[in-house]
Amino acid sequence: MSHLLLIEDDSDLASGLNASLAQSGYDVTHLTNGNEAVAACNGSNYDVVVLDLGLPDIDGIEALKRMREQGLRAPVLILTARDGLKDRVNGLDAGADDYLGKPFELMELEARVRALLRRTRAGDAEQMKFGSISFDSTERQMFVNGKPLLLTAREIAVLEALLAKAGRIVSKENIFSSIYELESDASTSAIEVYVSRVRKKLDAAGAGVGIRVLRGLGYRLELAEEALSA
Ligand code: CA
Repeated sequence: MSHLLLIEDDSDLASGLNASLAQSGYDVTHLTNGNEAVAACNGSNYDVVVLDLGLPDIDGIEALKRMREQGLRAPVLILTARDGLKDRVNGLDAGADDYLGKPFELMELEARVRALLRRTRAGDAEQMKFGSISFDSTERQMFVNGKPLLLTAREIAVLEALLAKAGRIVSKENIFSSIYELESDASTSAIEVYVSRVRKKLDAAGAGVGIRVLRGLGYRLELAEEALSA
C-alpha cells in the first residue's frame, strides 16, 4: 500500500480527497499546515506527497524547499489555485515533480499520483543489482564489479529478466516474452542458447554469479557458491 501525505487546509476539499484516495487503496496522512508538514517529512518514508501551495502558516513553496532540504525524496504533486506560469515554475524549481491547477477532477489527481509512483518505481529499477552485477536500465548497460560487460541486446534482455527476479525462478516463457515481443516466430529453444552465452560471459568476467537451470521450471540467477552446490 502506498503511503500518501496530503497537505491541504481547505477542509471540504481535504475530506473529499482523503475519502477518495483511501477508497483507491492509499494510506493517507492528512495535515493542514506547512510547519506540521515539514516536521512530518523529517525522516519519513512517504511514497508520494500532495501539497497545496496556499497554506495558513508558511507558503507551500517554502514548505517544499524545507522538506527537500531535510532529504525528502518522495515525488511531490503541488495543488495550486495560482495558475500563473511563474508559480508553476517556482514550484518545480523548489522540488515539485508535477502540479495541478485548482479546480481539478479527482480522476485527474489520482492519475497524476499514479504516474508519479510509476516514475519512482522506474527510478528504482535503474539501480537493479545482484552480487557483482548491476544494470543501468536507461543506458541498457550491464556491469560486473562496476566494469561494463559486453553483451548483445538479446543477451542483455535475458540477463535483465533474470536480474529482475534474482534468486527466484524465471520460466523460459517469461524470458522469451521479454525478448520476442515483436517476433512471434522465434522458438523458446533459442533462450537456451542466449542463457548459455550470458553464463559464459559472466564466468569470463569473474562475476561470481551463476545461472542455474531448473529442468522444466526455468532459470535462476544465483551467487556462485549456491550455483556450485547444485
Ligand atoms: Ca489552501
